[in-house]
Amino acid sequence: MVFDNIRNALTRFLKGGDYEKSVEEFIRELQKELVRADVNLKLAVEITNRIKERALKSEPPPGISRREWFITIVYEELTRLLGGDKKPSIKPLKKPWVIMLVGLQGSGKTTTAAKLAYFYKLEGYKVGLVAADTFRPAAYTQLKQLGEQIGVQVYGEPDNNDAVSIAVKGVSFFIERRTDIIIIDTAGRHHKEEDLLDEMRKISEQVKPDEVILVIDASIGQQAHNIAKKFHETTPIGSIIVTKLDGTAKGGGALSAVAATGAMVKFIGTGEKIDELEVFNPPRFVSRILGLGDIESLVEKVRRLQLDFTEEDAKRLIEGKINMRLVYKQLVSLRKMGPLAKIMQMIPGLGVKLPLEVDPKQLEVKLSKWLAAINSMTYEELENPDIIDKSRIKRIAYGAGVEIDDVRELLKQYELMKKLSKQLRRRDILKKLGIKPE
Ligand code: GDP
Repeated sequence: MVFDNIRNALTRFLKGGDYEKSVEEFIRELQKELVRADVNLKLAVEITNRIKERALKSEPPPGISRREWFITIVYEELTRLLGGDKKPSIKPLKKPWVIMLVGLQGSGKTTTAAKLAYFYKLEGYKVGLVAADTFRPAAYTQLKQLGEQIGVQVYGEPDNNDAVSIAVKGVSFFIERRTDIIIIDTAGRHHKEEDLLDEMRKISEQVKPDEVILVIDASIGQQAHNIAKKFHETTPIGSIIVTKLDGTAKGGGALSAVAATGAMVKFIGTGEKIDELEVFNPPRFVSRILGLGDIESLVEKVRRLQLDFTEEDAKRLIEGKINMRLVYKQLVSLRKMGPLAKIMQMIPGLGVKLPLEVDPKQLEVKLSKWLAAINSMTYEELENPDIIDKSRIKRIAYGAGVEIDDVRELLKQYELMKKLSKQLRRRDILKKLGIKPE
């Protein structure tokens, strides 16, 4: 999907400047882009308003800068638009697992049947394909060829045009052969729409599939909602595959429309090749839209800091009761968030500032050394780092297998955190946190 403008807008946003103005600017760009991607106008306005409101009214948790907080909000709202932060479960719940694919002609159903078969084959399942599209003459041959290409057996009866009986026989054929997953390809067009839906209903009644998957072409945009609804009324749709997301800027329409039906998008098709099928992961998709590969780690960091950095810790920090545990907690949370250097580049004015000037490239190395040093401190030292003198520094360095200078730097961190705490001990901040100034 073409979301370059969002990406550029985000880069501009991260550059700094007046916060409220840059929020406004980003929101405007996002709204335009969503509409361009065929997201329903009302929905686009709703989302951007919500983002704006949250961004301007809510306070970031302690340790998070406003800009980081804003990115998290954008991310959460876009993820919600595309169906939430759950990853779809792709494991069949029982064996055999019968999947019936439905969808309009040209949506990529036959291709997707083979892609899906290939996907599950690689997952270690024994898979079978049933060619029950008797309306499109080439469908059987197409599936047969694809099946040969991926080494999956195809059941079909080229001379029979009773799709229902082929589906039924195909499923028994594969059940007899102890197949784990049976995928039925069905027709996508009839002379009359009712005939098509009628056939879907009959196959579904006779075969009793475990899962009906709707295949939908991303380029149809907002219409996706109506199509999904129509099929859903005929055969309850368990999940959805959106195809051709590689070739369209309009995918936002299909995805959001589909999300609006409540069915879950399980896979997306991203090309014509047999392996161009991906498990749909809304958070990852949003990261891709925003062009921030590591946004997930940022969000994770925010969540963790929300959890880990408790109010009590904040209080401790402000009251100046800093011990090594607090420094440790801070360092560990920084350590856990992965390629820190990247994030530091990404966000100017990182919320959790490391007071020490360290080259971001070296930070990862430093952090692991500091953690090693902390791990070799005694409880007493952890509780009261002030007692750490020259000889203790030496012993800690020796115990941790790091240089004396590394331990010194770590202690400097502690000193700086103490200083930071003093700065924080201002009346206005104390008031905000509901702490009575002494
Ligand atoms: P059916 O009528 O629904 O069975 O559709 P087909 O499986 O025959 O696919 C129609 C066309 O869409 C074919 O040319 C496929 O190669 C193409 N196609 C299917 N899925 C994708 C996809 O994810 N990306 C792209 N670019 N093309 C696709």
